[in-house]
Amino acid sequence: MKGFSVEKGPLYIDIVTLFPNFFKSPLQESIIKIAQKKKAVAITVHNVRDYTVDLHRTCDDKPFGGGPGMIMKPEPIFKCVEMVRRKRKKSCVIYLTPQGERLSQKKLKKLSQSNGFILLCGHYEGVDQRVRDYLVDEELSIGDFVLTGGETPALCLIDGIVRLIPGVLGNNESLKRESFQNNCLDHPHYTRPRTFRTYAVPEVLVSGNHRAVEMWRQQQSLLNTKTKRKDLLVNKSRKKGH
Ligand code: SAM
Repeated sequence: MKGFSVEKGPLYIDIVTLFPNFFKSPLQESIIKIAQKKKAVAITVHNVRDYTVDLHRTCDDKPFGGGPGMIMKPEPIFKCVEMVRRKRKKSCVIYLTPQGERLSQKKLKKLSQSNGFILLCGHYEGVDQRVRDYLVDEELSIGDFVLTGGETPALCLIDGIVRLIPGVLGNNESLKRESFQNNCLDHPHYTRPRTFRTYAVPEVLVSGNHRAVEMWRQQQSLLNTKTKRKDLLVNKSRKKGH
């Protein structure tokens, strides 16, 4: 198994947010916690409010031209990101926005192999356009819906990435069979008891015949994909040039 290399160091993830407390518990649970413990990833949360100069630590203001909602001001965001970038010269700046490129497993894989990145979480109506024009390198969306802030999308992204870093999951084999690997969905899984109420586990899984189990899994994976996500199979054959 290929592990993350000590020479390369951890993947540096810097989060720029107005709500640092949002991350307290999620970063201390499950795989994200393990990934940090194994030093596969180093996550730092930065409070944009610490980069304000006024007494009230103002980070938002009314939109020019009028209209509803508030806009995150450019100055504290620029200051905060520029400070982070002095340390993390190789990190690109990603703004989480519903207007960004839709996140995919392929994109997560690419990010998991990078040196690191800075995640900018928006709030209210979003950030001043100049932040996007002159500071942000890339925009990512977690789907075609609008959330209150970029904090939940940032957590989605981090969760999806850390588990792809070699050595983070207990068994890397499980990654190979997951949904979206090979443009297919995963096969069904069963565990004990063999019969729950009147519902029995498929006979083949308890047959002890590894070849038959493997064939059943492949068939089920294909069937699952055909039933739920035909579009993935179309992409698969297009890639093969059919
Ligand atoms: N006015 C913005 C628009 O319509 O495009 C939406 C602003 S939203 C209420 C506030 C913040 O939540 C955004 O700046 C962004 O950081 C985050 N956000 C909301 N939905 C998101 C999504 N689907 N993907 C990524 N970030 C999202």
